Amino acid sequence: MRLKDKVILITGSGSGIGRSTALLFGTEGAKVIVNDLSAEKGEETAADIRAAGGEAVYYKADVTDPASVQPMVDGVIATYGRIDVLFNNAGISGVGALHEIEPEMWDKVVNVNVRGVYVPSKYVLPYMMERRSGSIINMSSCIAEIGLARRAVYAATKGAVLSLTKSMQVDYAPYNIRVNALLPGTIMTPFVENYLRTSYADPEAAINGLKSRQLSCEIGLPEDVAKAALFLASDESKFMMGSPLYIDGGVVFG
Ligand code: NAD
Repeated sequence: MRLKDKVILITGSGSGIGRSTALLFGTEGAKVIVNDLSAEKGEETAADIRAAGGEAVYYKADVTDPASVQPMVDGVIATYGRIDVLFNNAGISGVGALHEIEPEMWDKVVNVNVRGVYVPSKYVLPYMMERRSGSIINMSSCIAEIGLARRAVYAATKGAVLSLTKSMQVDYAPYNIRVNALLPGTIMTPFVENYLRTSYADPEAAINGLKSRQLSCEIGLPEDVAKAALFLASDESKFMMGSPLYIDGGVVFG
């Protein structure tokens, strides 16, 4: 088992990539702390891990809100004594060119996608620093490095997460804490299904358009990203520090 007894907190793990990662980590021996805004989805992920013979507990918390994140982190520490891995996965989309989106949407996407990395990290890091050990995985996106129509605010947040990852790595390397970023391409999750359904008259044609802009003829699956997260969570990636890890089918669009 590649994560035996590691205590791992995954934000936004009630759905999509986070859920798939939580299920995989459960089979690899981790004690999985499932977090999500949705209690229904979070409880379901935790129950599915336990049903498969793993160990999991669900905590409801909004990743942007210190008043709910701090008690979650303190609760995990009280139960398990440590957090070995923090996967800052929770995120939301925002569609529209800048002149089309309202300031409220800008603030919401920036808040969840960037502040939602800062807040859990702020409360987990002191415990990792004390133990001089830890791995933090931040969810960026390949969109951090390329242009894609009508995704400006989302792209800006994912660029910020990549930049934050590098700064965090410098600050916490002296404490033997690794901080790396995942950069997925298009991964078929409820998040993307919703984006395709609400943004395109013909979602099937849109998927084919996305496929034509990558080297692989497949659209990515949540499991593809979960396997990359497993590598970053495990000690197998001990020489990776502040690195972007691409899981994007060879995206070439610009
Ligand atoms: P998803 O919508 O399936 O899952 C996201 C989960 O996060 C949901 O369960 C949601 O309830 C939860 N969440 C949202 N806001 C929250 C908050 N404030 N506090 C706690 N939980 C919250 O999405 P997904 O596709 O699995 O995306 C997961 C991450 O991967 C996101 O950060 C997304 O930006 C990133 N990503 C996705 C893709 C893709 O193509 N799906 C590509 C690159 C990056």
